[in-house]
Amino acid sequence: GGTGATQSNLMRARMRLSLQEHLWEFYQNNVNIPAEEQGMARRAALDICAELRVFLHAKLPDMPLREMYLSGSLYDDLQVVTADHAQLMVPLILEKNLWSSIPGEDTIMNVPGFWLVRRENLEYFPRNSSYWDRCMVGGYLSPKSVLEVFDKLVAGSINWPAIGSVLDYIIHPVVPSETLTLEVQYEIDRKLYVDFLPLLVMEDGTSLIAKPHRLAAERHENLWRQSFSVAEKARLRALDQEDGGCRCTCLKVAKAVCKLNPTLSRLSASQLTNAILLLSEKEGDWTQEALADRFLQLLRELVAHLEAGRLPCALSPKVNLFCELTEQEVDELGYTLYCALSDPEALLRT
Ligand code: GDP
Repeated sequence: GGTGATQSNLMRARMRLSLQEHLWEFYQNNVNIPAEEQGMARRAALDICAELRVFLHAKLPDMPLREMYLSGSLYDDLQVVTADHAQLMVPLILEKNLWSSIPGEDTIMNVPGFWLVRRENLEYFPRNSSYWDRCMVGGYLSPKSVLEVFDKLVAGSINWPAIGSVLDYIIHPVVPSETLTLEVQYEIDRKLYVDFLPLLVMEDGTSLIAKPHRLAAERHENLWRQSFSVAEKARLRALDQEDGGCRCTCLKVAKAVCKLNPTLSRLSASQLTNAILLLSEKEGDWTQEALADRFLQLLRELVAHLEAGRLPCALSPKVNLFCELTEQEVDELGYTLYCALSDPEALLRT
């Protein structure tokens, strides 16, 4: 009885202690990216962004765009393992009176978190009153068609070898790619992938990105994806700042684990961020000493969300962040994480 229980408690305490040490070791050796490497990647991305701005201004002065900018984990100190990707945000300007947004739950697709952007007032402002009418499909602004416009430009009419030689990089568009991606080799052994991400900022501040629904049936093709990423990351950082917490560290460890374990690669930064935000609502102790406990709890929570087939977005609970996973993927992720609960260290062996 009593001694057995004490012994197993001791065992468990020892296991936790060693997991705690291993998580920090893993963080230092595998997760965290040296500042110098991040700096070089940011510089390469900035060089490309500058070239593209010049090119677009010169070649398409009429295209209604706000200034392009770089974003993503590389700029939030949340990138892990290698500094190898960034997003180039391309904000389109839409005329307020010509376009309106309809939430996905009010459409026949019934998908919260996605939106349709409908062309209005066609009778008074006929086709081609708006520059972006060229990307209208069936009365809606088609993200696919917007991406095609940029694809033609970026893959077709920019002389990347010439720009690359000026910058001393090797640049080429990645084909095929469902997003529009540039591969930039900026050192012999270092590559950066830059995604073009067209973006709409609606009147109420809602951000919509041209990143297609993954299970894109034809009827999903016109859907724009609402982006919560800026607000999610801000909330995570604010919580850590309030209590000196380890949420961002926990997120980075989890991201690295998913990046390094092919069976978990389907789990995205956004899903992990939201799982941590939801966990923060019921768990108060995020001290550095609690990293191992919180990491294990995160795994358990993810298993539970996968079992339910549902991970609500912390900022908009009607959005199910698992809605683009197939049933089989949900089962496989759940199984892998469930097994990891009894041997979490295995996730850290790379
Ligand atoms: P990481 O790529 O896993 O390190 O994490 P990020 O936080 O950089 O997430 C990038 C992903 O989020 C990309 O696939 C984007 O398509 C998507 N995303 C959604 N909204 C945004 C946004 O506002 N900015 C950026 N950069 N990416 C966004």
